[in-house]
Amino acid sequence: MTPKANSTSPPFRIGYGWDSHEFKAGILLKIGGIEIDYPKGLGGHSDGDLLLHAITDALLGAVGAPDIGTLFSPSDPRWKGADSAVFLEEAQHRVKAAGYEIANVDSTLILAQPKIGPHAARIREHLSQVLGISPGQIGIKAKTPEGMGTDNAAIAHAAVLLQNHSSPKPRGSKKKTR
Ligand code: MG
Repeated sequence: MTPKANSTSPPFRIGYGWDSHEFKAGILLKIGGIEIDYPKGLGGHSDGDLLLHAITDALLGAVGAPDIGTLFSPSDPRWKGADSAVFLEEAQHRVKAAGYEIANVDSTLILAQPKIGPHAARIREHLSQVLGISPGQIGIKAKTPEGMGTDNAAIAHAAVLLQNHSSPKPRGSKKKTR
């Protein structure tokens, strides 16, 4: 377990996460906690929300916690069809317990379809509520997988920066309201 941060702890910690899921017909598509109208969804043991999985792993990695697959094993029936918000909440709990708060999150989605642009603002707003930071502290970027041969998959990368509670707040941050 990461020792609780104090004024002598590192002022910042960085985290990085990555995930991919395969498209399957006839299931709900969820990206960043948002349902997107599309004929296919992302298969997986949970709800297949790869962006939440990547952010969860980034948060866990930043505080040296076990990764998402270790904490929420795909072979555990408890997580069958689980809302990935549960995984993110556990990661947030561990970040808080370690004495850190989120300074910002950046992410890149790589998928051929559907286009993320029209949904990016809604994803940012939702993540802002869930993570207790402002939309301006969240980056959502999307690219198509040129030359990668992964048109039937979606890939997400996420990086987070955590700030020691006892360090000065970044400008523009807001307190968690829920
Ligand atoms: Mg996953």
